[in-house]
Amino acid sequence: MNREASVLELRKQLEIIWDVLVIGGGATGLGIALDSASRGYKTLLLEQSDFAKGTSSRSTKLVHGGVRYLAQGDLFLVMEALRERGIMLKNAPHLTYNQEFIIPVYTIWDTILYTVGLKFYDLLAGHLHIGKSYFINKKKTLVRMPQLVAKGLKGGVVYHDGQFDDSRMALALAQSCVDYGGLVLNYCKVTGLLKNENNKICGVIAKELVSGDEFNLKANLVINATGVFADDVARMDNPESKPVLKPSQGVHIVVDKSFLQSNSAIMIPKTEDGRVLFAIPWYNKVVIGTTDTPLNVISLEPVAQEKEIAFILDTAGKYLIKPPLREDVLSIFAGLRPLAADPDNPHSTKEVSRRHKITLSQSGLLTIIGGKWTTYRQMAEDTIDKGIKSGFLEKRKCMTKTLSLLKLHDNIVDSEYYKYGDLSDGIDILIGKEPELRIPIDCRLPYNRAEIIWICRNEMPVIIEDVLARRTRALVLNAHASSIIAPEVARIMAKELGYDMKWQQEQIESYNELVKNYI
Ligand SMILES: Cc1cc2nc3c(=O)[nH]c(=O)nc-3n(C[C@H](O)[C@H](O)[C@H](O)COP(=O)(O)OP(=O)(O)OC[C@H]3O[C@@H](n4cnc5c(N)ncnc54)[C@H](O)[C@@H]3O)c2cc1C
Repeated sequence: MNREASVLELRKQLEIIWDVLVIGGGATGLGIALDSASRGYKTLLLEQSDFAKGTSSRSTKLVHGGVRYLAQGDLFLVMEALRERGIMLKNAPHLTYNQEFIIPVYTIWDTILYTVGLKFYDLLAGHLHIGKSYFINKKKTLVRMPQLVAKGLKGGVVYHDGQFDDSRMALALAQSCVDYGGLVLNYCKVTGLLKNENNKICGVIAKELVSGDEFNLKANLVINATGVFADDVARMDNPESKPVLKPSQGVHIVVDKSFLQSNSAIMIPKTEDGRVLFAIPWYNKVVIGTTDTPLNVISLEPVAQEKEIAFILDTAGKYLIKPPLREDVLSIFAGLRPLAADPDNPHSTKEVSRRHKITLSQSGLLTIIGGKWTTYRQMAEDTIDKGIKSGFLEKRKCMTKTLSLLKLHDNIVDSEYYKYGDLSDGIDILIGKEPELRIPIDCRLPYNRAEIIWICRNEMPVIIEDVLARRTRALVLNAHASSIIAPEVARIMAKELGYDMKWQQEQIESYNELVKNYI
């Protein structure tokens, strides 16, 4: 992935008609672009900001069937997600993990309910199950989870789900799409839709935000995969179109691993106000969340409310011997769920189905909303199939069920840089030439200069936030430490990508502004 080359390619291809043009570079859009490119369609994806800048880098990082959707009786969603969980773990072994969860139980009724419920969850996964669930007594629960409050504890129900790195997964999808001949471009915003004399959509107007140049790009099928922004794009098609989204904000906090001291994650199925709370080990830290706050304002950079942070801290504090305090929080991140609104109950978000919805407008805009990271592949398959059924594309078979996002040799598994995928041996080569590139830039973060150089050369970053928030996860692992390494990252980026001192200064300032939302 090379951004300069991609822009050049786009300029060269202004006259061609793309088979599929995807608007939005989150999980949904990137999944669709990969599905489309791997079926051999000529595919272009445009993202207004960075890949996964929106919701797709702000998830709980679970590849899961959704225990709570089981409790809500949404069996179809749970079965679909469990199947996709199995596929994702197989196809992206470098970015997904089998994670053990423990539900602490405090009553006999909960012990029976969750033991039986989780057995059913295992059953629904069928041959793609990733580990059996079972009950353990109080003593064993405390051995595995020593920081859990022991008072009143009856035991724990152990089960397995998947865990992943969401924004790195998005980059792996982008890279794979490019491998299959697709073109993906970040910082290129769709500002309007092109229509032919029959009022049918035949392309988009897009602004490349680095140069400021505007292009008219033609396509047989335009797909709106813009998450919480889907209503905005629908209005480009029809200014009268009714909103179909009801965004809801979810917040997570990140704290030191000493608060959990366990390789298992905690799942609290019912907090005092009926939500689910997870505390999950992730990159040597613990991610705790989430909340569910209906919002009317949609932003690419949502900000956590103090009451959401307090709710997470209070709830976690009820279960942990050493309750995390506000000053223990290393990072806070907020994301917006692109939930399909329930027309009968427009103000509720909790009960709205997490299932995806695909619609086709009269002028031919295919829009996909809802869904989950876990089901991105099925969502993509359904969207392209809908494009075929609607006559926009010739029939071709979906390839993604067995399409590996990691094509490299097995010995890469042993590499420290495994998560960077196919080309990551480039990092070892850099270190081989200059061993000092291996030293972490800051001891609080697991990143070195070789990784930053490699990222600049292979992953299309444009601003330092792209490197610190999504290609590495420095911003969410330790927001303050990430601002300490920002000047060094800016220096490396400037050298690699040809920027000057002024650019570095501006980047550091705007990054420090951003960090304020995360601490
Ligand atoms: C708090 C929270 C926790 C979650 N946890 C999990 C979890 O653990 N597991 C799970 O499976 N799912 C989880 N989800 C759900 C999952 O994260 C989302 O379903 C998924 O990321 C949505 O992806 P998306 O591509 O539809 O949206 P987004 O990631 O928001 O992508 C849409 C993109 O479209 C771009 N865009 C918008 N307008 C334009 C335009 N005009 N031109 C070009 N680009 C444009 C935006 O910049 C954005 O990058 C969670 C969601 C939230 C909010």
